[in-house]
Amino acid sequence: MRSWAREEVGVPICFDLDGTLGHFSSGFILLREALGEVWGQQPTVEELRLCRGSTDWEIVDELHRQRFGLELDEAGYARYEAACLARFREVFGTGGREAIGYRGVLDGLHQLAATRQVWIVSGNAPALLLFKAEVLGIDPAIPRLGSLPRHGRKDLLNRALSGSPGPHLYVGDRPHDLAAAQALGLPFVGIGAEVPGTHVSLPQDTDAEILVSAIRTALGAAY
Ligand SMILES: [Mg+2]
Repeated sequence: MRSWAREEVGVPICFDLDGTLGHFSSGFILLREALGEVWGQQPTVEELRLCRGSTDWEIVDELHRQRFGLELDEAGYARYEAACLARFREVFGTGGREAIGYRGVLDGLHQLAATRQVWIVSGNAPALLLFKAEVLGIDPAIPRLGSLPRHGRKDLLNRALSGSPGPHLYVGDRPHDLAAAQALGLPFVGIGAEVPGTHVSLPQDTDAEILVSAIRTALGAAY
């Protein structure tokens, strides 16, 4: 059996952000408003509901194809990203609405980051991810990887983990997080009640120590 210290070398643990580390209410409303600003008309709730992807690129690309019959390009994605960031800054900036941070999960993230490689791998467009991570008080030294053009969640995870010896692990809150982990053969720890399965599952108000212990156990089982 490997020791904790041995595991500390090059073993990235990846965390999703929304619903895993905290919650920004009305996120999809702001996404629709941002696209309304860029495209002149907001996508409908129904159009958004029909999207199968879980990352901003995938969702905005699907909506773009529905609306214009064309694939989204990098410039169009950059316009969405800037508009969405502006909406979030307006709503969640100083004196605005408060985001909810899951304190125990955030503390656990920082405890792990003291001895291990930890990444935030999220479906948010990169600039939006930087803003949300800052609002949640996440150590700037922890690398963030947001939604890139033509990348699904599995591709993002693969990118964060490439070149690092395993086992790795993903912490997430939705079936699409679990699916991405499973597609890459990663152990998975679930946060909240919206990701059913046989993996370890913890509530959003879990204690940091319980989270760290669960991750350690899941990593150990992966050896
Ligand atoms: Mg999530």
